[in-house]
Amino acid sequence: MDDQKLIQFLERENALRVNESPYPTEVGEEDVVIEIPKQILLPTKKTTGQFLEKLDPQHEELLELIREIKKRINHGNDYIRTHEDSGHEDVQSLEWDVCAWYQPIHYYGHSWGIYMRQDCIIRQTWQLLRRVHHDFFKEGPPWEQLGRLLIASATLYFLHEHYHHKVECFGFRMHVALHKSVYLPYKEHIYRKYFGSDLCLEEALANADSFRRLRDQPYKDTLGSHLRTACENYLHAQFRCASPGYRRAQDFLKRHPSGKIEFLEADFLAKENELQATMQECLVTPTGVCDDWGIASHMMRSKFTHASNIKFIVPPGRRPIYRSGLSLAFSCSTIQMKKLYTRQGYVEDSAGGKGSHTKYRKGDHVQIIPEHKTLPKGLAKKLLKALDAGYKLEDLPRLVRGK
Ligand SMILES: [Zn+2]
Repeated sequence: MDDQKLIQFLERENALRVNESPYPTEVGEEDVVIEIPKQILLPTKKTTGQFLEKLDPQHEELLELIREIKKRINHGNDYIRTHEDSGHEDVQSLEWDVCAWYQPIHYYGHSWGIYMRQDCIIRQTWQLLRRVHHDFFKEGPPWEQLGRLLIASATLYFLHEHYHHKVECFGFRMHVALHKSVYLPYKEHIYRKYFGSDLCLEEALANADSFRRLRDQPYKDTLGSHLRTACENYLHAQFRCASPGYRRAQDFLKRHPSGKIEFLEADFLAKENELQATMQECLVTPTGVCDDWGIASHMMRSKFTHASNIKFIVPPGRRPIYRSGLSLAFSCSTIQMKKLYTRQGYVEDSAGGKGSHTKYRKGDHVQIIPEHKTLPKGLAKKLLKALDAGYKLEDLPRLVRGK
């Protein structure tokens, strides 16, 4: 399914609400956006290899993790005992929807997708490293195991945000069936209203689903038992100190004296049915028989191939851990592009350009720069090529930093 078709549908139905997102986080004006190939989050030996090839081997934050991995290899499981409680505060700060977020098609059009902050992925990797059994490091060389830890960290964010995508997909199906949007009224009157409270069921389910899917394929096999156990223990700890709403994911987990964590599948499905009924009725406590939604469970499925539109956000002035390559798609904001044009000797032509675009001039050369939060990569490519030096997309992160 092509997103163009969905966007046209929303436009025709007057249900496209660009710039009215109910989510608190967005790409900052100075952030650099890197597109991540979708296979990366379906880790196999081959894709982990591809990911490793693109990781920056000189990146200081990765080298620091490698030094820690080597320490772990030397100290064995004594390491866990000394580091078990450290980093507890950090667990709290690695919040969902701040470190990563979903941009719904209804509110972002073509800029929809899953966004994750590089610094959070790295900090969360430290959390997994502290929890993984030392036998994990017997499974491969340090650099390879670091790649697997980083992918696992990104996967945890991905799975939570992907649940928000599934909720939007349910909204699309309901809209077609009922000839009216249930997604927009739900986001407006339920989600936004109860966000930050334990009545925000969608966040509890998004967290719980990220835990649940780690036990399904392809994650079950590709993570392997040591890494999966570390992810589960981390999530269990994270849910316990998460904010209201998010923390209710604990309701679906039961830790046994053996240390094993049971996932309460029936409870999860019952609550997912309740969320569907809530959206249908636009009531936080739906009046209908929620269980009926068990018949229509497929309506919550993802519409898109599992992992389309995933982006890493690199904070301004920081190096991406994932190196630029021809397949890599950097983009930037209109403000950053305008600064770049100014540095190259262009001046704003106040005679032209209205609202949605600005005209820049240097001698006879005129260039129109449209207003976008994040320039579509094709457009960023064209604007860079138009400059005297004929820059390429991979020059962008360096140029944006003024180098
Ligand atoms: Zn969320």
